[in-house]
Amino acid sequence: MTRIVCVAAARPNYMKVKPVMDALEARGAEVVLVHTGQHYDAAMNDVFFHELGIRPPDHVLGAGSGSHAAQTGRVMNAFEPLLAELSPDVVVVVGDVNSTLACAVVTAKSGALLAHVEAGLRSRDWTMPEEINRVVTDRVSDYLLAPSPDAAGNLRREGYRDDQIHLVGNVMVDTLLANLGRALKSDVLGRLGLVPGAYGVVTLHRPGNVDDQGTLRALLTALGDVARLCPLVLPVHPRARLPLESAGVPDGVRLIPPAGYLDFIALQASARIVLTDSGGVQEETTALGVPCLTLRDNTERPITIEQGTNRLAGRDPRRIAAAAAEVINGRTPRRIPDLWDGRAGERIADVLLTGGVRLRPTSLPPPAVPWQGEREAATVGER
Ligand code: UDP
Repeated sequence: MTRIVCVAAARPNYMKVKPVMDALEARGAEVVLVHTGQHYDAAMNDVFFHELGIRPPDHVLGAGSGSHAAQTGRVMNAFEPLLAELSPDVVVVVGDVNSTLACAVVTAKSGALLAHVEAGLRSRDWTMPEEINRVVTDRVSDYLLAPSPDAAGNLRREGYRDDQIHLVGNVMVDTLLANLGRALKSDVLGRLGLVPGAYGVVTLHRPGNVDDQGTLRALLTALGDVARLCPLVLPVHPRARLPLESAGVPDGVRLIPPAGYLDFIALQASARIVLTDSGGVQEETTALGVPCLTLRDNTERPITIEQGTNRLAGRDPRRIAAAAAEVINGRTPRRIPDLWDGRAGERIADVLLTGGVRLRPTSLPPPAVPWQGEREAATVGER
């Protein structure tokens, strides 16, 4: 029997790992779920296991929070002996959090093959810790499981072999479609006194948006302008709580605790507009056909703009307010990207169990990594 370790670490991982685990188990694989403990409280962790029906992890590493290096190091330290003990055939990591990188590097130096779900996404913004995590994880992966053609194209341009790259679709949409019916029965709108189609949802947690008070204040000014057109509700990510409280939130923007998965899908589904810096939310709004403004200067998910309902609005308050007014008063066309069909987990299981790379490649082609130059430019610009 093929033994596969699936790694989960933080909120955006749970909805990605669940459909992969289900599909692997349905095909007879032995799945071992390892939780690194990067997110551990009830609102960011337990509610997702409960609502998505994920079984309790087989192993919990207790990484906790801390600096990037401290957190990454703790996960590596704890994962290495566990991996030696489990001796799996394949390790599956998802997304772009620190635990993804930590477990990827440990796996690459063990005997197991490494599969990365969400391979090939690139913001080309080296100030984002997630970009570093993605690029390094892809570099040491055997199976590169891409959600969209742009991601597969990035990988090809970086010199990965065709037999490593698998265009499988979007696992987050698998979970969304599987739970949409239940989510739409949520009473969250009633509890918050919101009228369908007449409110907006906001999420903010990227370091580039919430760690600098000047940037955050500018974003809040923009949200105050948008709130004059339609009231906004903002479920607060724990890392944004203190910055938001000290910046002061304008009238019409209501802070609420982080929402559970079903409530948050319900909030998105009936929103007039979503304003976000989250990666997953850009994808979910595209799948739901709900207009989304991304409060960043770039996105690693360009397909949500080219085919979906997303627009890059940047961080300038006037630009954000103008874009929001257009969206609220206009119509946003809707098109769902290919393979965002609820079956990505099944395609991943087929790749891992029936084909793809069977042996760790002994030599990769010289990396045609264009990032180095861009990285130097970004670093110089920052100083
Ligand atoms: N989400 C949630 N409750 C919230 C905010 C987000 O359940 O209050 C879900 C959202 O539906 C999506 C995932 O969390 O499935 C996205 O996670 P997050 O924004 O934390 O991370 P990112 O996608 O930016 O890495």
